[in-house]
Amino acid sequence: MKKTNWWAAGVWVAAAMSGASYAEDTAVQHLAEAIRIETVSQQDRGSIDYAAFTQFNEFLRSTYPLVFEQLQIEVIADYSLVMTLPGSDQSLKPVLIDSHYDVVPIEPGTENEWTHPPFDGVIADGYLWGRGAIDDKSSVIATMEGLTALLQQGFQPQRTLIFSLAHDEEIGGSEGAANVAQHLSDNHIELEFMVGEGGLVVTDNPMLPNKAMAMIALAEKTYVTLTLKASGDGGHSSMPVKNNAVVNLARAVTTLHENPFEPQLVSPMTDMLDVLGEEVGGIQGWMMKNQWLSAPILESIMSDDPATNPQVRSTTAVTMFDAGIKENVISQKAEAKVNFRLLPGYTPEQLLKDVTAMINDPSITIESEAWKKSPPVADINAHGYDKVKTSIEQVLPEAVVAPGMLTATTDSPHYVDVAPNIYRFHPFTLPMSDTKSIHGTNERISIESIKTSVKLSMSLIEAVSKP
Ligand SMILES: [Zn+2]
Repeated sequence: MKKTNWWAAGVWVAAAMSGASYAEDTAVQHLAEAIRIETVSQQDRGSIDYAAFTQFNEFLRSTYPLVFEQLQIEVIADYSLVMTLPGSDQSLKPVLIDSHYDVVPIEPGTENEWTHPPFDGVIADGYLWGRGAIDDKSSVIATMEGLTALLQQGFQPQRTLIFSLAHDEEIGGSEGAANVAQHLSDNHIELEFMVGEGGLVVTDNPMLPNKAMAMIALAEKTYVTLTLKASGDGGHSSMPVKNNAVVNLARAVTTLHENPFEPQLVSPMTDMLDVLGEEVGGIQGWMMKNQWLSAPILESIMSDDPATNPQVRSTTAVTMFDAGIKENVISQKAEAKVNFRLLPGYTPEQLLKDVTAMINDPSITIESEAWKKSPPVADINAHGYDKVKTSIEQVLPEAVVAPGMLTATTDSPHYVDVAPNIYRFHPFTLPMSDTKSIHGTNERISIESIKTSVKLSMSLIEAVSKP
């Protein structure tokens, strides 16, 4: 922790924004360096190389000295950082900007499929390649670069700004985000709103092929995994039994697989269609805007396309199946895991009831791990949404800003008790085709997008710092 004279930072002149001088190429080099530090989150926490996490913290300190000098720095759970820049008006509630620097591992056996090695931070063909180039080191670097550029200009926020850089988002955030949120609540800090990862600017959305679409995700789906356990009669395989655990379990998971939940248009997808309908125009746009009439058709069209299906449906995926110890022994036990992603409004409690009814077999026990309480759908009419939207429009005036829903999960559920509204927006542009490289092979970000991300980050920080 470091005490600083906050007021010596000087007076922030808003007009300086347009003439902002920062080294764009430096941001590219810094992100490349960040990728080279292998901060990999392993599911088994015991096998995590924490030396890399310490090294990443040292990299941040040496690369962004101004941030570490002028902000109040707190280290949470050894590796996560909370950085506070007090505002001049203490009557305003703080805003939190969150990102994470841990990354997912490379799937064994796919290392050679990368065009450039995943941890080399290679710059080639107009891209920076590597694990974390998008998720989420780009946000970390954009934040640090944007903040540095603003501090160099004597930036002084009216509203207190808090930045969190988490270290275990990819494995649930139980150490990082959970303790950051606890820390805020212990210090009686109530946020005005929070901006975290999850939305981004997509440049080739099929619904808006000629325009960039910036999505601010107002909600994310609830992540629930259920474990199904079956038991049956065992014995030698030469004397087959009728009550076979593997068969009973197979029947149960097949039932779930073959009976997907009904498609349903709910907020924030309804809000997104309202905004897009305006842009798309024609009969298609009219349908998007008149959901009172067209909802069944839209639900049917969207659920038929694997890309949009998760936007209109609580999804079911059978992911693990485990049974048997030997080929000539009838297993008495079998276990499967089914991962569900629930639409806003559909609760895990209701899911348990529905799954139990669907399986309708008392010999199958259904267990669930504790799920994270999902944040409510953020208010599109609250001024936080407007701040994020305006900050995007200042940098990308052509972009269509629309609300959306994230089908994956982030650290944001940890903040449900300290942040009344959570807006998810990553400050960068990406063609939709590159989104599949997130957590996959050949994760990369264009050099252009890195440069834009610094501008977006500056614009966001500046916008939310005002009342
Ligand atoms: Zn992420």
